Amino acid sequence: MVAAAPVAGVAPRRISILGATGSIGQSTLSVLREAGPAYEVEAVTANTDVQALARVVRETGARFAAVAAPGAYLELKDTLAGMAVEVAAGTDAIVEAARRPADITVAAIVGAAGLAPTHAALVTGATVALATKECMVSAGDLFRDTAHRAGTRLLPVDSEHNAIFQLLEGHDIGDIERIVLTASGGPFRRHSPAQMADVRPEDALRHPRWSMGAKISIDSATMMNKGLEIIEAFHLFDVGPEQLGAIVHPESIVHGLIELVDGTQLAALGATDMRLPISHCLSWPDRVATPLRRLDLAEIGQLTFEPLDIARFPAFGLATQALDAGGWATNILNAANEMAVAAFLDEGLAFPDIAGVVGDVLDSAESGLRTPTTIGEALDLDRYGRELARRTIEIRTNRQ
Ligand code: NAD
Ligand code: MG
Repeated sequence: MVAAAPVAGVAPRRISILGATGSIGQSTLSVLREAGPAYEVEAVTANTDVQALARVVRETGARFAAVAAPGAYLELKDTLAGMAVEVAAGTDAIVEAARRPADITVAAIVGAAGLAPTHAALVTGATVALATKECMVSAGDLFRDTAHRAGTRLLPVDSEHNAIFQLLEGHDIGDIERIVLTASGGPFRRHSPAQMADVRPEDALRHPRWSMGAKISIDSATMMNKGLEIIEAFHLFDVGPEQLGAIVHPESIVHGLIELVDGTQLAALGATDMRLPISHCLSWPDRVATPLRRLDLAEIGQLTFEPLDIARFPAFGLATQALDAGGWATNILNAANEMAVAAFLDEGLAFPDIAGVVGDVLDSAESGLRTPTTIGEALDLDRYGRELARRTIEIRTNRQ
């Protein structure tokens, strides 16, 4: 499998996976399983799940394994005793993993925890296959500049952005009038505001189309995910905010569309399987054959579209407002959203209060905040946003 001898004459590509135990991390391993000796795994990381990380190491023969929880060091060391792997623990160890030499690094840590490691991977000059959209929301200018300076690329794993990336290839950016991302609409697409007031975490975690980590599943239910993705698209593609839009498409077959100045619209279609965009990123600029199930449009029968209702999904509107306000605002939007999602999952914050908290934080932020230009500034701003969110969550959960 991955650690097998390389094919004669073809050097295997070195790959690191940040967030190897998560949904995207596991889909990446599935792609590598099919690719066989074309890759060798350098570093893999996880938050707390030592046993899951150890399984990844055994399967891939990774040279370095890091777990974020500092107290998990001994368990990781003991579990992997006798294997030729270096182990480390703590948040610095995750950054160290990202600094190990790799041709391509899959950035798949959820949330702002992925900022420093993903940035460190870019600085080494590795190509970064980016799933952690929060990097572009918290510090998009910085990530774009860092990639540019390191002479490397951020390749989008996010299915919509991967679709747009493929559509844009071969087109002059000046010929693009509009970029449209599709949204499945999540589990509450038809819910009234009254019904949304009563939803519980288990309802929100049940996504109709995709099986994903908890945080992005909640973001999909509030449609904050689509707002984060508009911000991500702004930084990945060289267009203005007014050229970016979203449309609800419950079947999730069309992932994105571009409209050219002559009125032509081009769409990218694909099965709802993250292994497809991951595989595209790993082999880019080449293409490799995959055994993934092919899309059968006759079987699907029909594709439907409807406008995104900002009145019922205010989180989307908050994200686009933050994009207009600037990089400081998208950073604290992200911080507040992460706190609010965690409070919804664990502390009984009401579902509509997720957007409520984010709105309060944007309203109460002091004036004069600046767009972060270093990773330190991005993390400081993130901490400030979290502190504002903590206060408003406390008020809102006490009120219930
Ligand atoms: P997940 O929760 O399944 O996995 C997250 C990974 O990050 C795990 O390996 C976990 O151990 C690690 N992690 C969590 N907190 C950490 C911390 N504090 N420090 C270090 N590591 C930590 O999440 P996911 O669904 O795989 O999503 C990962 C990222 O990819 C998110 O930014 C998400 O928005 C994006 N994304 C996911 C999908 C999808 O289909 N799952 C699609 C598009 C984009
Ligand atoms: Mg997406």
